Amino acid sequence: MSYPQTVIAKFGGTSVADYDAMNRSADVVLSDENVRVVVLSASAGITNLLVALAGGLEATERFVKLDAIRKIQYDIVERLANPQIIREEVERLLENITTLAEAASLATSTALTDELVSHGELMSTLLFVEILRERNVDAQWFDIRKIMRTNDRFGRAEPDVATLTELASQQLAPRLEQSLVITQGFIGSESKGRTTTLGRGGSDYTAALLGEALHASRVDIWTDVPGIYTTDPRMVPAAKRIDKIAFEEAAEMATFGAKVLHPATLLPAVRCGIPVFVGSSKDPKAGGTLVCNHTDNPPLFRALAVRRKQTLVTLHSMSMLHSHGFLAEVFNILAQHNVSVDLVTTSEVSVALTLDTTGSTSTSDSLLTTSLLTELSSLCRVEVEENLALVAIIGNQLSKACGVGKEVFGVLEPFNIRMICYGASSYNLCFLVPGDDAEKVVQKLHHNLFE
Ligand code: ASP
Ligand code: MG
Repeated sequence: MSYPQTVIAKFGGTSVADYDAMNRSADVVLSDENVRVVVLSASAGITNLLVALAGGLEATERFVKLDAIRKIQYDIVERLANPQIIREEVERLLENITTLAEAASLATSTALTDELVSHGELMSTLLFVEILRERNVDAQWFDIRKIMRTNDRFGRAEPDVATLTELASQQLAPRLEQSLVITQGFIGSESKGRTTTLGRGGSDYTAALLGEALHASRVDIWTDVPGIYTTDPRMVPAAKRIDKIAFEEAAEMATFGAKVLHPATLLPAVRCGIPVFVGSSKDPKAGGTLVCNHTDNPPLFRALAVRRKQTLVTLHSMSMLHSHGFLAEVFNILAQHNVSVDLVTTSEVSVALTLDTTGSTSTSDSLLTTSLLTELSSLCRVEVEENLALVAIIGNQLSKACGVGKEVFGVLEPFNIRMICYGASSYNLCFLVPGDDAEKVVQKLHHNLFE
């Protein structure tokens, strides 16, 4: 069954942070009758608190975090006209959290972390349903874990799209005829029924996956910024909103650190060509950015993104000279440690690479474990540089245009450019600079390319 008019609306943590934010988001939902499914993140701050609890805390610290969670959610409960209806359910979830946090203080595990962390979205969706009901809107709470089947890679689980599609048409689609459906982003379950999560910020991804499974006509991502900008406006106040952008460009931006969309979000949208709208629930009238299949006159330079805390690993080996198989061996070791490589450059006797941390809870220094370093060191000399920033220029036909090098690097004369990657993709050019220079580099480049 397909619902050509179905819009999936996703609201991020700041859009469900408190009672007023939830009501503004409810206004947004009700202003478009095509919105049939609402996907929510946890209220802002909750996931971080739950992650901290899942790390295993001693009793005093644990109570501080538990109190903070209770306060954020009760501030919402207490403003409802009939708080008693929902209080019991929220209380039950808070009790679960307390028990699971105590278990984590004895022994942590990734499965336990996901179970614990999922409570943020379970609570925010319960509260939002109640807010809608108080406005006499017919809304039903739906546990997304019934249909969001994933593998068991806890913390960064991958969805099984075929199963999701089948389960969604059996269990979710019929509900859309009855009333508005409110469900959780970010969480899922593996085949044995254990709770999993799609990686931090994964609610956007959930919304896009549901869009694909339900053949939706659009996915709306409501956040706290009115769209996608040429760069982070907090860093460059002159940054401009992009009204329309192609999937490929937006995907590059997300991957390279623009915080607006989760990097995997656009995969399902691209697969089935569903447009994704990004706007601010604080100011829906301000409009936003539409990410879609096609844009007219795509510009050479579209946007700048920065990813901080990058680690550069350089491997030197004289035996690489005139030999073969060295790179294969290096990549093999990395693959065995589940580390994927982000940027690479090579010379005759060395290879430099950065580690991909997109979408994961890990930082690159935690990916670089002692056992990985030991194994690499047995093969070659290893050099590790930390605290670099990756600056990515997103554009169109970049690798085919002339003068790109001069236009980009001409203004960066005062800076040390540690590594450059250009040519593999026509959508980006990226390079590494010392972390402390990132802001200045982006400001200068933005001024030169966009202002
Ligand atoms: N609540 C989750 C997080 O903070 C998922 C999301 O917000 O998309 O990472
Ligand atoms: Mg979020």
